[in-house]
Amino acid sequence: MTVYAAPGTAGAIATYRERYDHWIGGEYVPPASGRYFENPSPVNGRTFTEVARGDADDIERALDAAHGAAPGWGRTTVSARADVLNKIADRMEAHLEELAVAETWENGKPVRETLAADLPLAIDHFRYFAGAIRAQEGSISEIDEDTIAYHFHEPLGVVGQIIPWNFPILMATWKLAPALAAGNTVVLKPAEQTPASILYLMDLIGDLLPPGVVNVVNGFGVEAGKPLASSSRIRKIAFTGETTTGRLIMQYASQNIIPVTLELGGKSPNIFFSDVAAERDEFYDKALEGFTMFALNQGEVCTCPSRALVQSDIYDQFLGDALERTRAIRQGNPLDTETMIGAQASNDQLEKIMSYIDIGKAEGAKVLVGGTRAELGGELEGGYYVTPTIFEGKNSMRIFQEEIFGPVVAVTEFSDFDDAIKIANDTLYGLGAGVWSRSGQTAYRAGRAIEAGRVWTNCYHAYPAAAAFGGYKGSGVGRENHKMMLDHYQQTKNLLVSY
Ligand code: NAD
Repeated sequence: MTVYAAPGTAGAIATYRERYDHWIGGEYVPPASGRYFENPSPVNGRTFTEVARGDADDIERALDAAHGAAPGWGRTTVSARADVLNKIADRMEAHLEELAVAETWENGKPVRETLAADLPLAIDHFRYFAGAIRAQEGSISEIDEDTIAYHFHEPLGVVGQIIPWNFPILMATWKLAPALAAGNTVVLKPAEQTPASILYLMDLIGDLLPPGVVNVVNGFGVEAGKPLASSSRIRKIAFTGETTTGRLIMQYASQNIIPVTLELGGKSPNIFFSDVAAERDEFYDKALEGFTMFALNQGEVCTCPSRALVQSDIYDQFLGDALERTRAIRQGNPLDTETMIGAQASNDQLEKIMSYIDIGKAEGAKVLVGGTRAELGGELEGGYYVTPTIFEGKNSMRIFQEEIFGPVVAVTEFSDFDDAIKIANDTLYGLGAGVWSRSGQTAYRAGRAIEAGRVWTNCYHAYPAAAAFGGYKGSGVGRENHKMMLDHYQQTKNLLVSY
């Protein structure tokens, strides 16, 4: 067991600056307005750094830098770009522990997750796209004996990217790696709840990129995000966040006729068919573990399995065991490697979750476990902790239909296969889903019938770079990860040549 020292205290391996400006043109630039906002750690609710509060003027300056760098970066060879991406990955790997502690401190998630999942995945993402861009080929079509069509991939130019706070570095990486590999320059706006870990990263990798290739402007949604997303100077906007904000982003983009990638909210079903409980073996144990995935990252995951659907004939047994497993989730200091669930990312998020717990109770759902704010005391006094919570109710309830984005799962039962699929698809969203069955046929049929971009079968919450990720229905437009993502950051040039 290791308990890391909090950044800014004796023995800490990660130290934040007291103040962060914007990262523009390869250097720190103070905000045009001179304004900064406070950034508290969810671990104890205390401010640890202040960050530039960006607005339209700062976005313009960042766009100037990105446009200045675009022709040069767009003309580099794919091997040169791949080389930069690999160097970024190497640098991050050399500082993995430090970055993991820094991100945990800003976001509240357990360091065991940032160490074992978030950072390794982010590093692998840069390596994956370094490889993918080198393997990408154009194409030639013979139209007739005198005419040839050549197809080339070209970068879009300057792209805008806006990200949320739940996986600060990983979300930045999902956007930056394919955009840079494809030869674009970027203006990125991090979430106002977690701006500093991305600047911490820029401190480490900034020198590896030509100035202006990546620019980071901090600030709030309407003040800084809107001028970026609605600018006529970007050739694409990639957004991850809430579905309601995604609708606005699409409107802004429509004014400039630019493509959007929208990675939005979810209300993912996790379906347990009765054959799961045929034996109390390793498979059953894995399924119970899969149930508890609703609490991973404090439930602040777009694909959080926030609806559990359990077949009627195993309902009592499975739920009984699932309650026991949930009670065993160890909550505590996020900087302790034994901690499994840490703090919610912000006080606003904590309040939103608690209000949904009240809504669930008011609409008649039964709290089986949790349902309270966790007061952890001591050095964690003032932090934003919620106990893992299990509700039992019906799919028509708000807690089954609306995204809570906390460690809260709503459980219901289903009678047969068709009933499971009907309940699973009865939602605005279509991002993730889990299917648990010993029968390959049942799992396959369910996987195909569920309206979601990612269906995990007998597993949950894995995010390899090579697997396409994205939403059906209200969960978004486009995909991230997988080499197909390069197409979203490139345009096709066709030369039609008559010989
Ligand atoms: P949010 O929509 O409130 O904010 C996301 C980002 O958009 C922030 O940077 C914010 O400042 C900015 N923003 C807000 N209003 C804006 C506006 N009018 N114009 C431009 N930018 C604006 O979402 P959040 O609360 O930060 O994140 C949680 C949401 O993100 C959840 O719904 C979650 O499901 C979703 N999410 C989706 C994925 C995915 O891949 N599908 C991944 C992670 C999170």
